Amino acid sequence: MKKNKKVCIIGGGPAGLTAAYQLTKKGQKVSVYEADKIIGGMSKTIKLWGQLVDLGPHRFFSDDPRVNKLWLEVVGDKYSMVNRKTRIYFDNKFFDYPLKPLNALFNLGFFRSTLCVISYIKYKVFPQRNKENFETWVINRFGKELYEIFFKSYSEKLWGIKCDKLDIDFASQRIKKLSLYEAIKNSFFSNNNSHKTLVDLFAYPKKGTGYVYNNFKNKITKLGGKVILKKRIKSLKIMKNDVLVKFSNGKLERFDHVISTMPITNLVNNLNNVPRLVKKNISNLYFRNTILVYLKINKKRYFLTNGFICIQKI
Ligand SMILES: Cc1cc2nc3c(=O)[nH]c(=O)nc-3n(C[C@H](O)[C@H](O)[C@H](O)COP(=O)(O)OP(=O)(O)OC[C@H]3O[C@@H](n4cnc5c(N)ncnc54)[C@H](O)[C@@H]3O)c2cc1C
Repeated sequence: MKKNKKVCIIGGGPAGLTAAYQLTKKGQKVSVYEADKIIGGMSKTIKLWGQLVDLGPHRFFSDDPRVNKLWLEVVGDKYSMVNRKTRIYFDNKFFDYPLKPLNALFNLGFFRSTLCVISYIKYKVFPQRNKENFETWVINRFGKELYEIFFKSYSEKLWGIKCDKLDIDFASQRIKKLSLYEAIKNSFFSNNNSHKTLVDLFAYPKKGTGYVYNNFKNKITKLGGKVILKKRIKSLKIMKNDVLVKFSNGKLERFDHVISTMPITNLVNNLNNVPRLVKKNISNLYFRNTILVYLKINKKRYFLTNGFICIQKI
């Protein structure tokens, strides 16, 4: 792209701000429009009861050195490495996640644990090969018993789709190459090359995840870009040489390029010249809503560190 192009970025979340920062560094004239009054999208940090809180838990971890480099460039040294502790509450008991054999064995009891191991061996010897979906992928790796206890209801509740309708790519993305064997091996022999799903340390900015996006905003502004809050884009019209952007207050402005990070359904429904088939198919996409419940605890130190319990209801 030639320098000095006028670029409109819809959305001040991680994607929009990253694009804006990279483009302003390359000398483009960038304006980010964010509908909300707070920057950061779903990764923002809000003030609640005199403290800063994120929307649910937000951990930063990436295998990609380019992403890590950019993150450090923006955050500097204002972050800590935090121990991860995740547990699954099942059958009135807390199970360590990633699964730890002794903890799982103890919680499941001898009979159920034996069933899990038998089921695991069964699907290792006779894997299901006819259908390829999330369900068969997990069963082949963990056995049916563990799949039904830990994966089925959780995934169906989270995504609102039956596991046999979830794509296999999604499973390999979410759970990577973790298997029961790997989980057991990792619990006995810790090594620095632990699997990605087993990462027990993550980077966390000292002022919450929104700190990253506030810093992005400051850096973009310093480089001459604009980040405008409380400004919603209503529709886009792709013209011959540029794009006509309409704001929710009715104002119109022309840009050489537009990058959109708004929900794709809203984008397609407010764009000109969209093929009929695309319009039809977009109506089949739907969103899962999330209700976050924050509990204020009447105690200064409930955990080892000050904190909120955040329950995510889907
Ligand atoms: C509870 C929860 C926990 C999560 N935990 C993690 C985690 O631990 N690690 C992790 O990496 N990710 C996590 N995520 C996911 C992460 O938050 C998202 O992947 C990320 O925020 C997506 O960034 P985005 O910029 O694509 O979209 P968004 O964050 O959705 O940003 C899009 C922005 O566009 C704005 N917008 C929409 N329409 C318009 C319009 N018409 N005009 C102007 N602005 C508009 C929105 O207000 C929003 O600010 C979590 C998400 C949730 C909800």
